[in-house]
Amino acid sequence: MSKDKENIIFLLKRLWLHISKKRHTQLSILFILMVFSSIAEIVSIGSVIPFLGILTSPEQFFNNDSLQPAINFFNFKSADEVIWPLTLLFISATIFAGGIRLFLVFVSTKLSFATGHDLSIDVYNRTLYQPFHVHIDRNSSEIVNGVATKTDLVIFNIILPFLNFLSSMVMVFLITVALIVLNPLVALSVIGGIGCIYLLLIKLSTFKLLGNSQKIADKSTVRIKSLQEGIGGIRDILLSGTQEIYCNLYKEADRPLRRAQANNAFISLSPRYAMEALGMILIASVAFYFTVIDTTVESIIPLLGALALGAQRMLPMLQLAYAGWSTILGGKASLVDILEFLDQKIPQSNDEVEINFDHEISFKDITFRYQEDQMNILENINIDIPKGSCVGFIGKTGSGKSTMLDILMGLLLPTSGELIVDGKTVLPDNLRSWQKNISHVPQDIFLSDNTIIENIAFGIPFDQIDIDRVHEAVSIAQLSDVINDLPKKYDTLVGERGVRLSGGQKQRIGIARSLYSNSKIMILDEATSALDEITERKVIDEISKTSSDITLFMIAHRTSTLKNCDFIVELADKGINRILDYKEL
Ligand code: ATP
Ligand code: MG
Repeated sequence: MSKDKENIIFLLKRLWLHISKKRHTQLSILFILMVFSSIAEIVSIGSVIPFLGILTSPEQFFNNDSLQPAINFFNFKSADEVIWPLTLLFISATIFAGGIRLFLVFVSTKLSFATGHDLSIDVYNRTLYQPFHVHIDRNSSEIVNGVATKTDLVIFNIILPFLNFLSSMVMVFLITVALIVLNPLVALSVIGGIGCIYLLLIKLSTFKLLGNSQKIADKSTVRIKSLQEGIGGIRDILLSGTQEIYCNLYKEADRPLRRAQANNAFISLSPRYAMEALGMILIASVAFYFTVIDTTVESIIPLLGALALGAQRMLPMLQLAYAGWSTILGGKASLVDILEFLDQKIPQSNDEVEINFDHEISFKDITFRYQEDQMNILENINIDIPKGSCVGFIGKTGSGKSTMLDILMGLLLPTSGELIVDGKTVLPDNLRSWQKNISHVPQDIFLSDNTIIENIAFGIPFDQIDIDRVHEAVSIAQLSDVINDLPKKYDTLVGERGVRLSGGQKQRIGIARSLYSNSKIMILDEATSALDEITERKVIDEISKTSSDITLFMIAHRTSTLKNCDFIVELADKGINRILDYKEL
């Protein structure tokens, strides 16, 4: 797969391009802070040399030629007088360096999560703007996982580790420079030795990390899918007692996921103890070497102190850099997935090419299939529908009724042929302005877990709801009695997906919602199938009576539903079989 071939640096660059200008600036400032913090750290490490020097051999220190200008400047009279200020200097340098470090951690954590927030919004937003055909080809678990889990993974596996990696590398670099100044041979052998071992570790673990990263990305989607399906089909699970089967499905996804996560965590954390021990052994060896070749112990203690302190700071930094890098590799596959979401284009609509439906809708030679390699579902459909008419659709199940209306709504674009409204072809350019004219009531209406009134005035902020219009819609949809019988009337919560309502009540809320939206075109796709015939009659009569200039499209299996239609289209064999009126039915 191409996924594996993509270089991680290249992927990080692509991610960078999706991060906003503002965050770019903040991240750049963060980098400056990293450099600054590292310098402070070096100063605090460096201040150990005079400090240890004066403790071990005060006279030698006091008489040191290169320090005379400073000693004269502060007017120190003896070595004892210098001890106090030096101690103070050492302590304050250490506290200052620690403080900056803490601030750095604070800022980088905040910034990582804020960037993660931006990315997850961006993923969701771009996904919502994708055309309908993209959504029907995709499993919703992928999206839920992309927005919720994988952006988390990007924070914890990419952004935070990357910042850690960067700040530790800056630190390592500066400590290396400082130690080289102190004693090039010792510094290079200690740092080079440890560095080589980490490079070797990266080389050895990369393959394993990438394999696990793919597992984490794939199995986390499977896990959400199994959750959604289990909870979604709870009625059947309870009836058939198949809890164990569903739990096993979940287990099969969760086990490899956790195992891969654990393996990656182990790979990034494990070298730490070995490396710390190794570092100390190296320093001990250097000390031993000096005692063998050199004269006085006093003269090398400051150097050894600085080295020990340097190594003591540097080892965790190297470990942090290594852990950062291996964590990034372990999140690579999720990063690839997130980037795919982030690369989704938001279709641009052109506001100048308005479609204001005033006259006629025409299907012109429309042919449609869902996938390239699939058979045609509809072939050469030609029909003109004047504004204000009521059109019925009948035909066997699977004959393409819903598909035809999805094309009418511009949710699906014809494979060939054109949908023409008032002489203008419906194209991605003017799609939005066409769709603004339409409201659609499917057989299985989506209700949000809110109050009845919020479900009728759907998506409208509570304080902007027009109560009179809600009442009118409710009365046409024959819902007044139902709502009046509820304890909290319009403020009754309908439950998730409307579980607290009957099928027919849900359908009528869908109709009321569509009426509230005041659209020029109303599409009822078996939207009254759950109502008894008398209620259905009343609803449809009321709709036809109150909204005479609405263009109404109705799909029904029950012919009596279509009594008010001006004409009825019968679909069969991928095309329009005949157009007839109600009496002919
Ligand atoms: P019903 O009366 O059962 O609602 P319908 O007339 O509305 O049926 P459509 O839903 O339009 O039928 O489906 C027409 C054909 O298109 C069916 O054969 C169906 O299998 C196929 N089809 C529907 N949706 C898809 C899809 N997303 N991908 C591929 N084929 C599809
Ligand atoms: Mg259908």
